[in-house]
Amino acid sequence: MPFTLPNLPYDHKALEPFFDTTTMEIHHKKHHQAYIDNLNKAIAGTPNENKSLPELVKIAGTISPAVRNNGGGHWNHSFFWEILAPNTGGTPTGKVADAITQQFGDFNSFKEKFSTAGLTRFGSGWVWLIVKDGKLEITSTPNQDNPLMDIAEVKGKPILGADVWEHAYYLKYQNKRADYLSAFWNVVNWSKVNEHFVS
Ligand code: MN
Repeated sequence: MPFTLPNLPYDHKALEPFFDTTTMEIHHKKHHQAYIDNLNKAIAGTPNENKSLPELVKIAGTISPAVRNNGGGHWNHSFFWEILAPNTGGTPTGKVADAITQQFGDFNSFKEKFSTAGLTRFGSGWVWLIVKDGKLEITSTPNQDNPLMDIAEVKGKPILGADVWEHAYYLKYQNKRADYLSAFWNVVNWSKVNEHFVS
C-alpha cells in the first residue's frame, strides 16, 4: 500500500494567528504531500515497499538518501500536525508537566532551552523533546532526520517537535525564526504530548 497524506486533525485556518492559513495549506498539501510521493517512488518495487513507516524510519540510514529524507519528512510532519492544536496554548499539564519541571527547573527554562536549540540548528531541521533512558532531553536534527533514526546523533522517543525549516514560517515571520518559535507555544497540544510521554 503506498503511503497517503493524513488529514489535519483541525482546519488549515485553525492555528491562526500563530500559524497562518496559507503556510499551513502549502506546508500540508504541498510539502508533506511531496515527501509522501517521493517516498512512494523510492520504495516502489524494492524489498522496502511493504515496510511500515516506523520500520523504514528506524533503518533509514541503511536504505538510501531518498528514503531517509522522504520517509523522515512523512514521519516528522505526521507527528507535527498531531502535536499542534488550536486554543491549547499556555503551560503543559499532566505527567509531562512534572517531568519538565523535574528536568529543566521550570517551564520557562525549558521553553528557552528548546527555542535556543531550534534557533541554533543551522539551516533546515527539527528541534525535539525526547524521552531517552527514562529522562527528558532536548535535541535537534538536520534536514528530515529524527531521533528514531539509526543515524541520529542523539536517539530517543520524540514527544514534542518543531519544524524549523524556512517553509514552516517564512511567509508570516520571514527570517525571524525566533518569533515563529515563540508563537509555537500557543499551539502546542499538551494532551497529545502527554499521550506520547506515557505510552
Ligand atoms: Mn516542514
